[in-house]
Amino acid sequence: MLKTVSLIVPFYNEQSAITIFADKIIPVLEKIPEIGWKIVCIDDGSSDATLAQLLDLSQRDPRFRILELSRNFGKEAALTAGLDAADSDAVVIIDADLQDPPEVIFQMVKAWREGAEVVLGRRVDRSTDSTLKRKTAAWFYELHSKISHIQIPENVGDFRLMDRCVVDALKRLPERQRFMKGLFAWVGFRTVTVDYARLPRSAGTTKFSGFSLWNFALEGFTSFSTIPIRLWTYLGTMGALCALVYGLFIIIRTILWGNPVPGYASLFAAITLFSSVQIISIGMLGEYIGRIYMETKQRPIYVLRKTYN
Ligand code: UDP
Ligand code: MG
Repeated sequence: MLKTVSLIVPFYNEQSAITIFADKIIPVLEKIPEIGWKIVCIDDGSSDATLAQLLDLSQRDPRFRILELSRNFGKEAALTAGLDAADSDAVVIIDADLQDPPEVIFQMVKAWREGAEVVLGRRVDRSTDSTLKRKTAAWFYELHSKISHIQIPENVGDFRLMDRCVVDALKRLPERQRFMKGLFAWVGFRTVTVDYARLPRSAGTTKFSGFSLWNFALEGFTSFSTIPIRLWTYLGTMGALCALVYGLFIIIRTILWGNPVPGYASLFAAITLFSSVQIISIGMLGEYIGRIYMETKQRPIYVLRKTYN
């Protein structure tokens, strides 16, 4: 029987990239034998001509299926919408800007046919990303693997193929705050990696600023580890022990040599240090409580305005 594979592509203000995307992806897909392709495009609340262009595509080519979100929900939500809508035997997630070369899909499908359930695209050459972006990404992976139980593979983005069974497993994860890289790693399954070089953007500009990447990293840590809040218990205990020892030292010193009333500076330093440590730890607690709060609302991850095709 003919196997079906859905491409899942999130679009946010990508009007300049759409034509290039369609022109390049279609010939690649058609070269892969015995697969029925569907292309699920998610318009993530774009404010430019993205939706109009996508609709135009879908009218000319029935393989394009368009999901229109009611506003910008972010890439993770857009991907979730795509995964929910896909009904094929496997899905391939790919960016609209063709930074992930479509030719790699060949190898992905091949590995899938050979029995892999997840085929990851790993970027071996990230020279198109800035040094700062690469460095901070490396730190993120290192720290994340240290403080959480799951291992997020390094240099692996969302570009991947997933079998039906993986998609079904992902759909069973109910969290609203979706750190996809972590969720992908959490579900596991038989995984194979293919390497590729990340290309420059085909057109347009990146949608992720430095600050949104920082928030993204924070999301990654707090979604998969409670060490950041547990840390304070240990720090607090250590601080208390030090304070106890110092207290004993002061008592003994006062008994032996009397009280010469020094120590304004050390007192001031200790107070400011420990009060700021307390504020940081309260902030850390707040990060988690905020997430609990968002989860308890049980709001949907995205809202669809309309589906086409
Ligand atoms: N994207 C999205 N919603 C957003 C931000 C981005 O759907 O809120 C899409 C975007 O259109 C692109 C993909 O996510 O297809 C990756 O975005 P981008 O290329 O800007 O990220 P980068 O490659 O710079 O990390
Ligand atoms: Mg990109």
